[in-house]
Amino acid sequence: MFRIAVGGFSHETHTFLEKRTTVEDFADRHVQYGPEVIERNRGVSNYLRGFIDVVEEAGGELVGTVYAAANVHGYVTRNAFEKFTTDMMDALREAEGIDGVLLALHGAMAAEDYDRAEAEVVRRVRSVVGAEVPVMVTLDLHANEDHHLTDHADAAFVCKKYPHTDTQETGEAAARCMVSTLRGEFSPAMALHKPGIISPSIFQGTDFSPMREFRRRADEWEQVEEDVYYVSVAPGFGYADVPDVGASVIAVTDGDKALAEGVARDVSAFMWRRREKLARRPILGAEEAVQAATQAVGEGRTPVVLADGADRTGDSTHVLRQLLRQGVKNFALSSMHDPSAVRFCQQLGEGAEVAVSAGGWGQASGEPVQLKGTIEFVGNVNYELTGPMSTGDSVGCGPSATVNLGDSRYVILTSLNHQVRDAEGFRAFGIEPKDMDVLLVRSRVHFRAYYDRVAGEIIEVDAPGMGPADLSGLRFHKIPADTFPVGRNWPQHE
Ligand SMILES: [Zn+2]
Repeated sequence: MFRIAVGGFSHETHTFLEKRTTVEDFADRHVQYGPEVIERNRGVSNYLRGFIDVVEEAGGELVGTVYAAANVHGYVTRNAFEKFTTDMMDALREAEGIDGVLLALHGAMAAEDYDRAEAEVVRRVRSVVGAEVPVMVTLDLHANEDHHLTDHADAAFVCKKYPHTDTQETGEAAARCMVSTLRGEFSPAMALHKPGIISPSIFQGTDFSPMREFRRRADEWEQVEEDVYYVSVAPGFGYADVPDVGASVIAVTDGDKALAEGVARDVSAFMWRRREKLARRPILGAEEAVQAATQAVGEGRTPVVLADGADRTGDSTHVLRQLLRQGVKNFALSSMHDPSAVRFCQQLGEGAEVAVSAGGWGQASGEPVQLKGTIEFVGNVNYELTGPMSTGDSVGCGPSATVNLGDSRYVILTSLNHQVRDAEGFRAFGIEPKDMDVLLVRSRVHFRAYYDRVAGEIIEVDAPGMGPADLSGLRFHKIPADTFPVGRNWPQHE
């Protein structure tokens, strides 16, 4: 019988956003302690569920520690980072006789005092449990990591799909590795290699080139070499000015460090040769994208999904303004992140006529838009995901409202930033997405988990915003000079 501590601390930090990520932002998403960490994740398709299922099936005992996750904002505050890591270390100290530690981390967290936040978490865990207790972690595909993490962890496993529909399987792979290690049947050896590339999230979908080819190369190693257990390909999170930024390949083998090194180097070199495809591609601007959407509607390819990948604060008005200017009808905007506009609608109530200024408060979000119409829905929205991604997970949008501008033009106002991943992302606000001609979503790739099958056409939009498809407009100071394509050793105008 073995006892395994499980927990997690997850945040994708966009270091160029001014708004810090606070304890309250974690409370808005997920903060769980002790037995809650086990009980509340049993029915959710996520990393923790993968840990739980495998450890229990193997007859192990689970000890819940802390699980905290928040939506994308700027740096995690010193206060929030110290609170959740300290709580986790306290829980580990209290749990006596721990044989192993499994943690669901992200990999792109940056805290005010720690650019390499996950490496610091794992370093502290190691200092509590000692050198002999295996510590294994899962990471998001957007992880920015380097050897600081792998120095302290015994094994690290990155999810293989973007949209991340395989997080539960990733958790299972980590837990199986833990169980066989504790039984003395496996001896993890790990190597990490960084090709030196950063790229915008929008080019990282694993159903598309070049990620599909990178993944295939990694899969071949897993299939061909018996001792290769798991090969992770993380393209990383480009909107982070941190020293461990960018793609990494992490190989875990059974006891063969040299093999792990060789695999990580091979896949990394393969990525480097295809770096252009990962880093750059032209995308339509807001005006052209809305024209293309109108044409697609005219040809009957509905619903057309306009994916505004550059909006990172959830309040951009650039594409909405084009929809209004070009006279598009029967559309729905998935979310305008604007608590004060929501409060205004709440005071008027459902059925009331409203004129309210919304959006455009963020760093690159454009001017606020004047919305005039009827309030069709007001409510505190918390819904459960039913699509292929994170099935069963709850999504909180806070107090929200839906405004009909006439001609079936709907704008959903939310108090929290909201990324649509399935049909519930509209239905929770009273809109059936399949009935709309045009759906405007704030998402880069995750919406595809559901909408790739449902949409008549998907059009990516690169409007102005804090998540541009071209990273050269962001000012990086801390990244390695050789990082392609925006490190200072690369000329910007090749
Ligand atoms: Zn991700």
